[in-house]
Amino acid sequence: MSQLSRRKFIVTAGSAAAGSLLLKGCLGNPPSATNVGSPQAAAPASPAAGAAPETTKVKLGYIPIFESAPLIIAQQKGFFAKHGMTEVEVSKQANWGSARDNVEIGSAGGGIDGGQWQMPMPHLISEGLITKGNKKIPMYVLAQLITQANGIAIANKHLGKGLHTKLNESAVAYIKGLKTSGTPFKAAYTFPKANQDFWIRYWLAASGIDPDADISLLTVPAAQTVANMKTGTMDAFSTGDPWPARISQDKIGFMATLTGQMWKFHPEEYLAIRADWVDQHPKATRAILKGVMEAQQWCDQPENRDELATILSGREFFNVPAAVLKPPLAGKYEMGDGQPAVDDFKMGPLYWKDDLGSVSYPYKSHDLWFITESVRWGFLPASTLDDAKRIVDTVNREDLWKAAAKELGVPDADIPKSTSRGIETFFDGIKFDPENPKAYLDSLKIKRV
Ligand code: CA
Repeated sequence: MSQLSRRKFIVTAGSAAAGSLLLKGCLGNPPSATNVGSPQAAAPASPAAGAAPETTKVKLGYIPIFESAPLIIAQQKGFFAKHGMTEVEVSKQANWGSARDNVEIGSAGGGIDGGQWQMPMPHLISEGLITKGNKKIPMYVLAQLITQANGIAIANKHLGKGLHTKLNESAVAYIKGLKTSGTPFKAAYTFPKANQDFWIRYWLAASGIDPDADISLLTVPAAQTVANMKTGTMDAFSTGDPWPARISQDKIGFMATLTGQMWKFHPEEYLAIRADWVDQHPKATRAILKGVMEAQQWCDQPENRDELATILSGREFFNVPAAVLKPPLAGKYEMGDGQPAVDDFKMGPLYWKDDLGSVSYPYKSHDLWFITESVRWGFLPASTLDDAKRIVDTVNREDLWKAAAKELGVPDADIPKSTSRGIETFFDGIKFDPENPKAYLDSLKIKRV
């Protein structure tokens, strides 16, 4: 967006925010559990007219893991409709590659306008790095959907080898030995160069295993991970709940680590939409954000988690028994392999707030970590760090999140004052200071830069 049009947009957004604040009494109250009515039912028609979104339709893709819950809940419980988005389609994607292909063509071409993303997919799509013909499709990151609720699962054949959060010397020797004997340890992620790839790499590298030299990495779609581990296609995988938790529930394998044990309250997946769609539909974008925020607040209430499990378990969504979803939604994980079980709500999926700040707000410092980690592994050239501020400032629209939060009446205390969450600390003691990503890279032993 040019400086001029951005300024014009901010002015427009500002006046819309002022107008809708007057309506807060009508629109700002959370619906009851059974309220799935239209916004017309919730507010008088005339004052709402000025705040009406430019369109009532949007198509948002999702992958059936806990990360998608705010999108599914916003649609199923009427939070999108409450804000005037009465025709939101949440569309299950076969895998991350399909989601990328579908956002390239957009909803007009039968694809999607945006939805749930691993990081830094929106940045890579915007820069034309993972698109067909390297076409740049500008996207905006609008909100974080979730923290935690991901894990690394290991097949049963590796029981008793010490493959836990921190690997001891014999566990490291065991994994390296598999490579030497011609049967390298095969670890799967759901899409290369994004979250799950980063979690596997960080976990192994922290203990001295080079993921590019000492093991094999492969891509497996999230919903196929359990089947693939049963048939022995892979030794480990990293993905979102409920799939890693299901491995230990079904006694096919065990959990090496929860991602929350590697990096408590870490950035996970995000809502991002094509920039052209957002620029054409600023009010609809804020309406979507308000719906997602209310859904995240709803999802975060412990008393709603059983109902959340029931909704997500539906045939059209995850298509798994609710009983599989309930333990991880309550922060209960059977780790297996002699490790203590985890029973802590704050180690499970969190959607609105955590102990470090907002879950929903998209901190720019987290975008920068994903770009820095991409540089670490040679996915992006080292020079990208010099350009990182431009990339993050172009893609991350935390300003739109804040505008929507104010319209919704989110208390000031829940709206971060800084675009940085500050220094991040990992389980191996490594720190990431967003003010100095080079120092973080320097502190890492295993890297491609
Ligand atoms: Ca994930």
